[in-house]
Amino acid sequence: MNEIRIEKSASLKPKPDASQLEFGKLFTDHMFLLDYSEELGWHDPRIVPYGPLTLDPASMILHYGQAVFEGLKAFRTSDNRILLFRPNKNAERLNVSNERLSIPEMDEAAFVEYVKALIAIDRDWVPSLEGTSLYIRPFIIATEPCLGVRAAKQYLFAIIMSPVGAYYKEGIHPVKINVENKYVRAVRGGTGFAKTAGNYASSIKAQEEAKHDGFSQVLWLDGKEHAYIEEVGSMNIFFKIGGEIVTPELNGSILAGVTRDSVIGLLKSWGYPVTERKISIEEIRRASEEGKLEEAFGTGTAAVISPVGQLHWEEHTMTINGGETGEIARRLYDTITGIQSGKLADSQGWNVVVE
Ligand SMILES: *Cc1c(COP(=O)(O)O)cnc(C)c1O
Repeated sequence: MNEIRIEKSASLKPKPDASQLEFGKLFTDHMFLLDYSEELGWHDPRIVPYGPLTLDPASMILHYGQAVFEGLKAFRTSDNRILLFRPNKNAERLNVSNERLSIPEMDEAAFVEYVKALIAIDRDWVPSLEGTSLYIRPFIIATEPCLGVRAAKQYLFAIIMSPVGAYYKEGIHPVKINVENKYVRAVRGGTGFAKTAGNYASSIKAQEEAKHDGFSQVLWLDGKEHAYIEEVGSMNIFFKIGGEIVTPELNGSILAGVTRDSVIGLLKSWGYPVTERKISIEEIRRASEEGKLEEAFGTGTAAVISPVGQLHWEEHTMTINGGETGEIARRLYDTITGIQSGKLADSQGWNVVVE
């Protein structure tokens, strides 16, 4: 790995009030950049003042959408250490996405070093208020100026960071979700398992319609049969049915969430078996009718755990646990946020300290 060049910003921005932060609107003073060319591979790692990128209008990202991204968080502990939650998993997944999008692989250890180096420069931006964190967004775009349809030969890897407020300002609470029966997010053989911009571009319409109808998110069904549950907008989903905890298996069209993996690990360590399998929406409807649908919750970096109070599918409305947060969802939320903020012992060895 070559040395990171550092160009510090001449003037630092004022820090925001941590109780007023909105998601992803404010960015720190610096950003990380790294170029790729066929001749040099990934080269010239540098930290520079945060600011606009200059792109040739023929840059291939603008025409054919070769773009992948990641999302992770850094937390400030009460003794002023800064912790990253499982950044190696994000590095691994970035390469899974790269492979699918024909973007050159990155060194995973270098990825983690780059994230740490940028946080170290902007460490004053990691908020300390309960529930707050610094959201980190690494991404790669195709920058080669060319209108031919093929994999680009030049890319830019960048990391930007944004201080974010507590997801639940008034405590963890359940959401209403619409089961999407018109649009699909992904199909087997497509890009559903990659964290790529295009998956989101095609999902926005369904999200807008669900919002309009009073739901906070969309639950996607499989693209072929429209029968099996896949995931929520940017979260994986779990159910507790008659005592069994289940989540859809990773079948090629679902994103492998780091939070999903952490939840499965914790539940197993607590002695709850988790079954990864196909789950039909009809099974959920039947369980609900029979009073066996005990809990449902989404998992993802932004919310950590998002309990589902109500599911709406065609003419069926399923209320889960009386619309209240379930016991497992709460325990998972408290445990994961406790580990992330350094309040609970990191029994799984998940945290990485930023020096
Ligand atoms: C990022 C993402 C998730 C959640 O992954 P985490 O690593 O837990 O944040 C789930 N689904 C989709 C489509 C995503 O993009």
